[in-house]
Amino acid sequence: MPPETVLILGGTAEARALADRLSRRAGIRLITSLAGRTAAPARHAGEVRTGGFGGARGLARYIADEKVTLVVDATHPFAAAISANAAAACGTAHVPCLRLERPPWRPLPEDDWREVADIGKAATAIPAGSRALVTVGRQEIAPFLAREDVTLIARMIEPPDVAVPPHAELVLARPPFGLDDERRLLRDKAIDTLVAKNSGGTATVAKLMAARELRVPVIMVRRPAKPPVPTAPDLEAMLEMIARALG
Ligand code: NAP
Repeated sequence: MPPETVLILGGTAEARALADRLSRRAGIRLITSLAGRTAAPARHAGEVRTGGFGGARGLARYIADEKVTLVVDATHPFAAAISANAAAACGTAHVPCLRLERPPWRPLPEDDWREVADIGKAATAIPAGSRALVTVGRQEIAPFLAREDVTLIARMIEPPDVAVPPHAELVLARPPFGLDDERRLLRDKAIDTLVAKNSGGTATVAKLMAARELRVPVIMVRRPAKPPVPTAPDLEAMLEMIARALG
């Protein structure tokens, strides 16, 4: 039995890269946990488990049952519930909790950003009569589809569970996206408003560069608050943090 069991809470490219690097380290049992939202998840190094734990108590139980010695929360910056559960469960189970979280994007002086607190406020902030490219993902598209006074171009990886009305068009595509493609999309669809979540990272930043070039205003959803646990901004910093935590 390896002396250390590391649980990565995943669902991001960073979590997968971390699993890949940690799997090369001897003496670690590695488990990545996925929520099970996508039908065909990417392959991960080490063990993978799928589905919710049943809240913070369920996660604390899982940590005890599997003798987890370290939890790395590498979930998406907008996945607020699982991060809160991770911090609480680690407190209960007396296991360290670290977070791998890419820094948010910041506007440049020439950017035209309107920052809003949540998805609902983003949906109401779109001016009537606009042609809006909405890039918030399939799970949070409903309030935008309700805006019948707006032409929506909704980009997401897989189609939503809800019906898509006639004033909306789906663009199904998987990141990363390049600048040429983003420029073309904004031009071809005559987009005059871009809606984005402040996810950070490089995979989806090109839309902001294209919006800057074409002077398209951006409605940017701020990140939700997460509990204060030791946080690394990138993979290398996280590997150093883990090395210190495991000794
Ligand atoms: P969330 O709102 O924070 O979590 C809702 C519930 O889903 C949690 O309470 C938990 O259920 C379960 N869950 C979430 N992440 C899990 C994980 N890694 N392993 C096991 N259970 C998990 O999360 P979300 O925003 O729906 O995101 C779900 C997953 O998609 C996360 O893994 C996240 O990294 C990924 N993701 C999210 C976004 C986004 O914009 N939100 C974007 C890209 C990827 P229980 O309470 O039953 O344990």
